[in-house]
Amino acid sequence: MRRLALYAAVACSVIQGQHAFDIHIQERTAQVEPTRLRATVESLASFGTRHTLSDSVKPNRGIKAAQQWIINHVKSLQAIQGSRLQLYEERFTAGGSGRLPQPVELVNLGAILPGVDSSRKKEVLIIAGHYDSLPSGQDPDADGPGAVDDASGVALCLEIARIMAAEKPAITIYFVASAAEEQGLMGATHLAKRLKAEGFTVRGMIAADMVGNVQGINKDTDNTTIRCFSEGVPSIETETQKRTREALGGENDGRSREWARYVKRFGEPYSDNLDIWLMLRRDRVGRGGDHTPFANEGFPAIRFTDTFEHYDRQHQIPRVENGRRYGDTPDFFDENYCAKITRALLASFMHLGNAPAPPYDIAIGGNGTANTRLTWKLPDDPRISGLVLYSRRSDAIHWQKTKTLPKSTEITLQNVMLDNNVFAIATLDASGNESVPVYPTALISGR
Ligand SMILES: [Zn+2]
Repeated sequence: MRRLALYAAVACSVIQGQHAFDIHIQERTAQVEPTRLRATVESLASFGTRHTLSDSVKPNRGIKAAQQWIINHVKSLQAIQGSRLQLYEERFTAGGSGRLPQPVELVNLGAILPGVDSSRKKEVLIIAGHYDSLPSGQDPDADGPGAVDDASGVALCLEIARIMAAEKPAITIYFVASAAEEQGLMGATHLAKRLKAEGFTVRGMIAADMVGNVQGINKDTDNTTIRCFSEGVPSIETETQKRTREALGGENDGRSREWARYVKRFGEPYSDNLDIWLMLRRDRVGRGGDHTPFANEGFPAIRFTDTFEHYDRQHQIPRVENGRRYGDTPDFFDENYCAKITRALLASFMHLGNAPAPPYDIAIGGNGTANTRLTWKLPDDPRISGLVLYSRRSDAIHWQKTKTLPKSTEITLQNVMLDNNVFAIATLDASGNESVPVYPTALISGR
């Protein structure tokens, strides 16, 4: 018996991409309905185009018709029994250069689920898909159904909003259908800057952009993996932060990268046959997305995108040329694949939405000694019942071990060589909800 117990204790401390199931989250992820995802994608694609400058008069075509559909859909989610969702409708004017030569009124849409912790009113989570589309040649009158890019992301956000409608997370969650992504990330930029200016802290942002195409232009077909892009080095790093990062070796541990690891750790167990690829780059080569403006404001922000893209289906007017088919139409959208991704992201948001506030001012040291020492500060959050120490060898990409610690502000790891390991610390509540682990930002000097 003693040997069995010891084995169990050791096994618990080793991360193998698995996490103890939370029954409530498991019930919620089981409610994801592929048919609803498809219905949203088909509805949005039915407007012919959602180009930002498309027809604004016809009730069944163009961006205005799509906006009204989203508003009506959110209202239907507000009618769900026990729903706490609020309609999110944020209008602003942007443009005057680039793809929008004249200033135009734009609108971000979606739903907000208010957090219930009154001391954390300024902390938010954001999941976003963009509702605008782009045909080839950027012609606002041409057909650009945008089924996968990015009606799929909007469908994912609205499905998570539906399932979480009656939830009471500690912090507020935005489910966003963003505007004018294709015109220069304008909707996401407006929201990120507004939240920053108003003193909000975004604890985690995800751009779900193209989450439903399973066949690549290289003819590979895959519905079991999804790419998660995150920056390793923060784009807004100051000179001082750069020197500290170089001293600590934090190139693979920016806040967005830790958020990406978190989604993999807490999302994968709730989605069968889905492997989240932790892409060690900010985005696809030479390209960007709605997560970028949030990262630019210093918020942890990542992007989920199909593993294999099919460029004949992106930003194309639907047509057949020389026997080759072009266009982003709903028949290329795989709702069962999108449902897998939806489950993983839903689980991650439910975990982090209920997690305590994270630790801060983490310092590490031990140079020239046999030991590694960590110190940190804890926020004034009564729900913190303990901490989790994450570690991996310095040559590893994923966290390899976790160790639960009592509520404290320091630890000395005996006979653990500082240089050979990487550490981060998360807060933990009594129900097992964890914050995103935080990487050290200071070096403890001396021995
Ligand atoms: Zn897109």
